Amino acid sequence: MEYVSTRGAAPVLDFEGVTLAGLASDGGLYLPREWPSFSHDEIAAMRGLPYAELAACIMAPFVGDSVTPDRLLELTRAAYGRFAHDAVTPLVQLDQQHWLLELFHGPTLAFKDVALQLLGLLFEEFLGRSGGNLTIVGATSGDTGSAAIDAVAGREGVEIFMLHPQGRVSDVQRRQMTTVLAPNVHNIAIDGSFDDAQAIVKRMFGDPNMTGRFRISAVNSINWARLMAQVVYYFAAALQLGSPDRKVAFSVPTGNFGDVFAGYVAARMGLRVERLIVATNVNDILHRALSSGDYSAGSVTPTAAPSMDIQVSSNFERLLFDLGGRDGAAMAEQMRGFESSKAMRLTNAQLQGAAALFTSARVEPDEMTATMRRTHEDCGQTIDPHSAIGLHAARSSGIPAAVPVVTLATAHPGKFRDAVERATGQRPPLPSRVGDLFAREERYHELAGTYEAVRDWIAERATPVA
Ligand SMILES: *Cc1c(COP(=O)(O)O)cnc(C)c1O
Repeated sequence: MEYVSTRGAAPVLDFEGVTLAGLASDGGLYLPREWPSFSHDEIAAMRGLPYAELAACIMAPFVGDSVTPDRLLELTRAAYGRFAHDAVTPLVQLDQQHWLLELFHGPTLAFKDVALQLLGLLFEEFLGRSGGNLTIVGATSGDTGSAAIDAVAGREGVEIFMLHPQGRVSDVQRRQMTTVLAPNVHNIAIDGSFDDAQAIVKRMFGDPNMTGRFRISAVNSINWARLMAQVVYYFAAALQLGSPDRKVAFSVPTGNFGDVFAGYVAARMGLRVERLIVATNVNDILHRALSSGDYSAGSVTPTAAPSMDIQVSSNFERLLFDLGGRDGAAMAEQMRGFESSKAMRLTNAQLQGAAALFTSARVEPDEMTATMRRTHEDCGQTIDPHSAIGLHAARSSGIPAAVPVVTLATAHPGKFRDAVERATGQRPPLPSRVGDLFAREERYHELAGTYEAVRDWIAERATPVA
């Protein structure tokens, strides 16, 4: 499989190349040149496969010649063998129409583990072949950082520098990052928002002084391999609910547009998806973009669902590129406009293309809290703030009653204990797999939220290419 950049000016790469590169050298994001697709019969034949086998089957066309089918299956078995639930991503029924897809049974309690456990193994696989080392630089609103650090801590040839916005991640999220003391792990708390951190990382990828000295890669959802791994659970859920003979809708608590874009990919691959509901909190740039074509970034409002406190959703560019006729030059022009004015209009083709599959909603804090409370009281399920935003959007979406609606439960309630306790009156326990998180020593470095401060700090510590 060949991969092209959304901005049309970066080299075409294979799967191994895009996995190691992360962001494209022209500032764009990589996408497969065309979408592989499965027929009705091929999808029907996937029913009942164990998760790791389903994953290998869905990913095979994307991986192409970069990993043999047997090896791919070994890797998916290793990645998903670390999950605390046999089904990996179990479905829980809430009522006649609504289901939760629990994506938080991995080591760090959020859905990011589903992709990052595999990505850590892929890095090791590819570096083992080519030699050399990789410098991962990432920005996190909390969950990517902990999942990425867990996935690469102590691995040969990889070092990770992870930026988080100081004071804007939950105590569990912070400790899951900062208590990992492996020498290849470097945590940086910056004085700024997640968007500031992400902007610093993006700039580093475009800085020839850094990319020339270090082999820099990304674990944010700009890395294609992550989205690919996330496509799998859309198939897994739909197959359980009667796919391919029945359509299914999905509601996705959205931040950087990675998770819901994986749902779009599943639909492009032949999965029969009724609707993809893009659920946002008050940081609603995606809701405004999808409902009126206005993609303009305001400032970030911190909320109880911090992994969605994002105003600039990197992966949205992938959708706009695909819907806009895959014109790299036009996309580069549109994004240049956005980067200079922090605002852009979607074209009619983009807006209409999106409307065919996506619905969006902005969920207010009191609606989120009420949903956590009601789900606890009526269904006996404790859900986290992000999942509650998804569930509220699902329940207000007007999907016909005969269509099952699956809300992606993106985090374990124990990861956001304070917010859950405020809503339900009960403090959810942390699962035993996180161990003595609150007794462990923490290590992180505080830096100003400027490019120069972060660049210099990393440049002093990273391993240059030989
Ligand atoms: C990362 C994250 C999200 C947002 O996912 P995107 O792929 O960035 O849209 C939602 N909920 C939780 C708990 C997360 O960790």
